[in-house]
Amino acid sequence: MPELPEVETIARQLAPLLSGRRVERAEILDPKLTFKPDALAGSVVERVMRLGKRLVLEILGKKGSRFLRFDLRMTGRLTWSSAGQDFSPKHLRAVFTLAGGNLLFYDPRRFGTIEIFANLRDAGPTGVEPLDPGLSPEKLRGLFAGSRQALKIWLLRQDRLSGIGNIYASEVPFAAGLSPLRPVNELSREETETLRDALRSVLGEAVKNRGTTLSDYRDARGARGAHQGHLKVYRRGNETCTRCGGRIERIVLRGRSTFFCPGCQF
Ligand SMILES: [Zn+2]
Repeated sequence: MPELPEVETIARQLAPLLSGRRVERAEILDPKLTFKPDALAGSVVERVMRLGKRLVLEILGKKGSRFLRFDLRMTGRLTWSSAGQDFSPKHLRAVFTLAGGNLLFYDPRRFGTIEIFANLRDAGPTGVEPLDPGLSPEKLRGLFAGSRQALKIWLLRQDRLSGIGNIYASEVPFAAGLSPLRPVNELSREETETLRDALRSVLGEAVKNRGTTLSDYRDARGARGAHQGHLKVYRRGNETCTRCGGRIERIVLRGRSTFFCPGCQF
């Protein structure tokens, strides 16, 4: 499932291709998508952005801006096809025809969704953006709000930080040298600062590598990400820790695999 780095990659690739283009029509091919593309024709794509794990297009029409939100879930893909270029109809669920080409929404397992909102606030997640330069250790501690939740579980809460899923919820605590089992309200100020730095470095590096492809994720050009070769603990149970030489463990927290090194995460 695409997380912040994967959706950020798609947004960065699509932004120069879509921005400023007029929408000619929108066609929903899968009745499972309840989205009604009414009155999109004639609007212009103002902006392409990522909010948490979702991709949002700001569409400017006669009555002002609206926000088209794509949730890719398990297997959703967005890709651009220039006018005159052939594209496969297989697993194609929606086509947005813009001046000069088509934005294609593919999704073999059909869990993805498309929704439209009048306000950006309604389209967005309620949590804080982990790469926000204003995210200070104090602000992060404020987000803990005295919670006794284990760090790994807490990192998955989209109402606190938005964009982290199961892969980076193991990678970030490793980079910070913190056990995924630590209750967040017990993290010191220094540890919280280390955690904040780890969020930036891990997510930032993953964006540079165009995300992690373990199975389905592809970027907007249809290419696999390259960050899977840089994962330190995720899906590396029983392997040797690159930092301390210890053995990486896999445990299950709330039904989800969690990876860490007991030798260097405290
Ligand atoms: Zn280690």
